[in-house]
Amino acid sequence: MTSPIQSRFTRRIVSILAMGLFAGWLFDQIFPGLFIATLFYLLWSHYQLHRLLIWINAAAHKELPPPESSGLWGEIFDGIYRIQRKHSRSKQRLASVIERMQESTAALNDGIVMTDPNGSLEWWNRAAGELLGLQMPDDQGQPLTNLVRNPRFARYMDNSHGKEPIKIVSPVHESRQLQIAITVYGQGDRLLLVRDISRLHQLEIMRTDFVANVSHELRTPLTVISGYLETMEDGMAMQPDTPPIFKRALGQMQEQAARMQRLIEDLLLLSRLEATEPDRISQSVKLKPLLSGIVNDARALSGENQHQLQLECEDDASLTGDAMELRSAFSNLVYNAIRYSPCGGKVQVKWWQDQDGGHLMVQDNGVGIDPVHIPRLTERFYRVDKSRSHATGGTGLGLAIAKHVLLRHEGRITISSHPGKGSRFICHFPLSRINQASVVEV
Ligand code: ADP
Repeated sequence: MTSPIQSRFTRRIVSILAMGLFAGWLFDQIFPGLFIATLFYLLWSHYQLHRLLIWINAAAHKELPPPESSGLWGEIFDGIYRIQRKHSRSKQRLASVIERMQESTAALNDGIVMTDPNGSLEWWNRAAGELLGLQMPDDQGQPLTNLVRNPRFARYMDNSHGKEPIKIVSPVHESRQLQIAITVYGQGDRLLLVRDISRLHQLEIMRTDFVANVSHELRTPLTVISGYLETMEDGMAMQPDTPPIFKRALGQMQEQAARMQRLIEDLLLLSRLEATEPDRISQSVKLKPLLSGIVNDARALSGENQHQLQLECEDDASLTGDAMELRSAFSNLVYNAIRYSPCGGKVQVKWWQDQDGGHLMVQDNGVGIDPVHIPRLTERFYRVDKSRSHATGGTGLGLAIAKHVLLRHEGRITISSHPGKGSRFICHFPLSRINQASVVEV
C-alpha cells in the first residue's frame, strides 16, 4: 500500500516529466524536453536541500520557524519542525523536573553527594557542601577520598556493599559527628547520604557516660560488701553452732554480690568498647595461645560437669585486633557453650581461614535456641530463659559484648541452632585482618 506522501511524490514527478514531454512534443524535441524537466527538478530539489541545511544549522542555536515551501518539501520542513518542537517541549519538561529535584535536594538538611564509579565528585547539595567542606566548582571531578581524609571512610568507599552506614567526624567541624550511607547504582556510580548526628551522638555519649559512672560508683561499695561477706564467712566457719539459715543467707549474698560484680565488669567493658575509636586496633594477635587459654578456663568452669572441649587451630594463625577485646568475645561464646550444655556435653572450638577471611566457630550440643529468639540474641539483657541464665550466673551482656567486639574488628557473628540439639556461633573476620606481619604474644 502506498502512503499519501508517496503518491503525491509520484504525481509530482510524473507531472513534471509530462510537462517536459509535452514541451518537447510541441517543439518536436522530446528527449531534450525530458532532460530539461529532469534537470529543473534536480536543481529545485538541490535548492530546497540547501535551504534545509541553512535552517537546521540556524535552528541548532535557537528555535526558528521553517522556510516557506510548498508541496513535498513544505511537508518535509513542517515534519522536521514538528519533531523539533516536540523535542524542545520534552527538553523543557525534563529541565524543569531536574530543576525541581535540585531545588528540593538543596533544601534538605541531609547532605547528598553523587560520584562516578571512580569515586570522583559529580554533584552535591548545599548541606553536603557544608558538612564535608566541598567547594563548588573547584572540587567538581576531584576524588572524594582526597577531600574527606579518613581511613575508615576510604575503606567504606572501596567496599560499601551490604555494609552498615559509618560514623565519622566532619572534616570541617571537629565537633560534628556524621553518619554516611552509600548506595551503589547504575554502572557503579555512588550516592552518599550524609547526616549530621551530633545531637544523637551527644545523647549516646551521655548515656554511655552515665552507665560507666554508675558502674564505677557501684564498684567500691560492692568490693567492701564482698570483703565483709568473706570475713563473716570465715567467722561463721569458726563457730560450728551458727544456725544453717544464716549460712544459707550468707552463701546467697556472696553469690549475688559476685553476680553484681560480673555485671559491673561487663557494663564497664561495654562502655569502654563504645567510647573508644576502633581505628587504634592494630596488634597482630596469635590465636592458638589465646584460644588455648580460654579453653583451659572453660574446663575449670565446667569442673565436675566434665564437658568435652576440643580445640582446632593452626599454630601460626593470627588476627589483627585487640587481644583483650578478642579474649572477651571468644570467652563469652565458649563459656556460654559450657553453661548451656548438660554435663559431659561436647564443645568444639575451631579456627579456619578461606578466601572469605578468618572464622572462629564455637559449637555445642546443648539446650539449643528456638529460632525466633536468634535475631534478638545479641541485644543487651536479652535472655531466652531468664531463670536458666540466672542459675548459670549469666549477666545477659555476653553476646552484646561479643557482637560489639566483632563490629570493631569489621566482623560479624552468625548463629544457628536447633532446640534440644545444640548451637553454633561463628565469628567471621575479613581477609584484611588475617594477613599481618607483626605478632604480639598473649
Ligand atoms: P547470658 O549472660 O544470659 O548468657 P548472653 O548475652 O551471653 O547472656 O546470652 C544471651 C542469651 O542467649 C542467653 O540468656 C541464652 O538464653 C542464649 N544463649 C547464649 N549462648 C547459648 C548457647 N550456647 N546455647 C544456648 N543458648 C545460648
